Amino acid sequence: MMTLKMEGARVVIIGAGVAGLVAAQHLEAAGVRPLVIEATDRVGGRIKTDQVDGFLLDHGFQVLLTEYREAKHYLDYEALSLTHFRPGAVVYRNNTIASVVDPLREPSEIFRAIFSSVGSIKDKLLVWKLQRELKGTASEELFAAKNQQSSLAFLQEYGFSQTFIDAFFVPFFGGIFLENELKTPAPMLRFVFKMFARGHAALPAQGMEEIPRQLKAQLTQTLFRFHTEVAAVKDQTLVTTEGEEIPFDILIIATDPKKIMPRLAGAPTPYHATSTLYYASTGGQLPDRLIGLMADKGAIVNNFCLVDQVATEYAPSGQHLLSVTLKDIPTMANAEEKVAQEIRDICHQPNWQLRPLKRYDLPKALPHLDHLSYDYTPTEARLTEQVFLAGDQLLFGSLDAAMRTGRRAAEGVLAALQRL
Ligand SMILES: Cc1cc2nc3c(=O)[nH]c(=O)nc-3n(C[C@H](O)[C@H](O)[C@H](O)COP(=O)(O)OP(=O)(O)OC[C@H]3O[C@@H](n4cnc5c(N)ncnc54)[C@H](O)[C@@H]3O)c2cc1C
Repeated sequence: MMTLKMEGARVVIIGAGVAGLVAAQHLEAAGVRPLVIEATDRVGGRIKTDQVDGFLLDHGFQVLLTEYREAKHYLDYEALSLTHFRPGAVVYRNNTIASVVDPLREPSEIFRAIFSSVGSIKDKLLVWKLQRELKGTASEELFAAKNQQSSLAFLQEYGFSQTFIDAFFVPFFGGIFLENELKTPAPMLRFVFKMFARGHAALPAQGMEEIPRQLKAQLTQTLFRFHTEVAAVKDQTLVTTEGEEIPFDILIIATDPKKIMPRLAGAPTPYHATSTLYYASTGGQLPDRLIGLMADKGAIVNNFCLVDQVATEYAPSGQHLLSVTLKDIPTMANAEEKVAQEIRDICHQPNWQLRPLKRYDLPKALPHLDHLSYDYTPTEARLTEQVFLAGDQLLFGSLDAAMRTGRRAAEGVLAALQRL
């Protein structure tokens, strides 16, 4: 009887990002055959990869943190052929270049770490102390409601010098949060720091889109409709921008719902913006498998790396792929040339040949959240009797959060179907 309810229910999911795909997986496992409606041409949402001239270009520089709890559960890491960055970064500041490699993970770097110009001995000891503390703390605890001060306030209170904050934390976490004032609530900093301390920042051999592709390949009962944008939700019907009406019994909105349900309380979620520029590179060199951080305040660039040092498949043989992520979407003319020149200048490599491949301007890259939660109950995913919500904006903008919200929404739907 219960299976019939599951099989007969018209469950529709709006959005084929990782949140929607994980929700579909849970529904399928319980005998539901969901319909996923997606505005673009394929699955992945913000995680997509294009092929241009033999290069793999992710839509914005992104990494998979291998310690993510949900990612470990839903993804087959081996099949993704993950390769990873080294644990550290190279800091470019005031015309100097200094590497900060975690000596606990790469013991050969211990002396370089001690004598690195980035940070005082006290700052380095505090990094090790924080790493040790966070490694041993449950992620749920890192998000405790009482500790929602800004990341900057947390670092200052912890005792880090302003010089070290400016030279390392601002460009490092600024590149992850996509904002350089470190206003993002401290739980995110603690969580990401813990993920870096325990695991790796990795890339799938065939690009980040391999992640949603793998999730989709696990679905056998889900129907997909691409190139279909939902304009509005009216009672138990979706209306597409083409005017088509699609009825549903239960709906999961796996994206920000404000545009399609404008009467929802509150303003639409604000987002942090960024641009990633890709260049085919010849003749330049960067330290192996380390992300470069630009610590000078006036710079356009936030971070950069040669992606194919980590995953060789990202560039055709004999060429290299430089990824450069900016602090914001540039408005000046000739941004591609100005960014290339800034890279040549800060790396002291005036003859570096950089051929622009493609630029991704991402006005809605990461949700701007004032309060972060690590998890919630399936009941909290329920908006109305028939409508459930998912999407990274509900927890802490990331791949891991998106997956968890997909799971919680599906669990809520299944509980509701059982009561029908
Ligand atoms: C530049 C950048 C860097 C990032 N770096 C990282 C990182 O290093 N690590 C990390 O963990 N996370 C990172 N993220 C965040 C991560 O990509 C997202 O948290 C995650 O992909 C969100 O998934 P989602 O399913 O919640 O939403 P989305 O991926 O946004 O999916 C929503 C889907 O809904 C569809 N949709 C929206 N409206 C409609 C409509 N009206 N009708 C039909 N379909 C609709 C959209 O087309 C989209 O496919 C980064 C993101 C960006 C952009």
